[in-house]
Amino acid sequence: MIDLHTHSIFSDGELIPAELAQRAFAAGYKVLAITDHVDHSNIDFVLPRIIKVCSKITEARKIKVFPGVEITHVAPAQIAALADEARKLGAKIVVVHGETIVEPVPAGTNLAALQSSIDILAHPGLLTAEEARLAADRGISLEITTRRGHSFSNGHVAQMARKFKAGLVLNNDAHSSADFVNPERANSIARGAGLTDDEISDMFKNSLRMIKKLQV
Ligand SMILES: [Zn+2]
Ligand SMILES: [Zn+2]
Repeated sequence: MIDLHTHSIFSDGELIPAELAQRAFAAGYKVLAITDHVDHSNIDFVLPRIIKVCSKITEARKIKVFPGVEITHVAPAQIAALADEARKLGAKIVVVHGETIVEPVPAGTNLAALQSSIDILAHPGLLTAEEARLAADRGISLEITTRRGHSFSNGHVAQMARKFKAGLVLNNDAHSSADFVNPERANSIARGAGLTDDEISDMFKNSLRMIKKLQV
């Protein structure tokens, strides 16, 4: 089990990174990315701390934890530069908080994110054909989420990914220990989004592929 999108107390999560990782491990997870919400105010504060603790946790335990960020509610025109800054500061996984239908995320966020150097567009809501095509062309994964609210548009995201051959990843967007779903629940949510068994298997392989790329 892999979750490439989680939050600690360095943004709005409930747990410090060490406990978040331990809770994930106890729930059966082998790999995690801690991707706290960032904007221009906190990226240089959050990332060095997450990087430091991720290397300590990975060194000491049976779970690998990668440092990342989730660029959140940043003006679309400023996303690309902030994504580059995240890379420079050492983020291994760069996520953008996409245009979920349950929040007033600035219009144009999905498109700007997909034109930036990022890994995952999280909860992209009512993703357009142009955006899905761009995700496929640029190798940016689209997220199927187990998180309440954001998951309302999973079916649409799955359909667009299929149509334009974009990669998918399944994430919990965990903010607390209760958010780590078990494999059965992950599978049910993916099937509920309309994905076939083969597509679900491809989605899990895609997360694995992202992790392997990081370890080289
Ligand atoms: Zn988000
Ligand atoms: Zn998130």
